[in-house]
This record gives sequence, structure tokens and C-alpha cells, in this order.
Amino acid sequence: MHELSIASSIIETVTREIQEKKLDAVQAVGLRIGELSGILPDALEFGFDALKSDTPLAQAELVIEIVPVTAVCSECKHEFKVEEFVFICPQCQSSAVETYSGQELEIAWLETESPHRKIDETEI
Ligand SMILES: [Zn+2]
Repeated sequence: MHELSIASSIIETVTREIQEKKLDAVQAVGLRIGELSGILPDALEFGFDALKSDTPLAQAELVIEIVPVTAVCSECKHEFKVEEFVFICPQCQSSAVETYSGQELEIAWLETESPHRKIDETEI
């Protein structure tokens, strides 16, 4: 994955958000990253730290939440957490399952000088 370009889009997106909503200095950016997204959190943090100086996010830290892979069975509608990439329903053994989380890459919240301010979840 291209963590550096993702870090750059995060900075752009949040900078736009700061300008539009006239936010105070952002101290932390909460990200939700799905286990299936292929993004390496360490590389993303490294890229973010490398790019953030001279932006409104110079003081900000990334707080990354990893979203587990979950799926729903098309046969019996059972919802389950996918472990080790085994996409088989534990209830009826069907392989007709659809993932519904694990691909996320989104900004979940921004922390400014006032406590967590919810922004709309933003696709990067
Ligand atoms: Zn099933």
C-alpha cells in the first residue's frame, strides 16, 4: 500500500475540515483501519509524522483503531468475526459469506483543544 500518499490525503482532508469548521488546533486524529485494508499502521504513522510539519496538523498525533473483519452468512444470516481469513460460516459451514467490515479507511474523529468533536465519518 501507499501509506505515504494515504498520510498525505489524511492531512489534506483534515486541513480542509479545520478550515471549513474553523476548528482549534487539532491534537489527535482518530482513524479506523480495517484489517483487510492492507494498510500498515506503523508505516502510516511514520508517513504522517514525516509530512505533518508546516501543516495545521504539526502538533497532531494519529490514533489508529484496527477494525476486525466481520462477515455475514448468505445462507443462515449468522454474523461472525473472521479469524485468520477463514471465510466460512461457523454455524452452517457455508462459504457464501459477505464481509461487512474490515475494509475501512476513514477518519472517525478529531480531537481539538475542546474534547472530542465528532465529525461526519469521512472517506479518505
Ligand atoms: Zn451460515
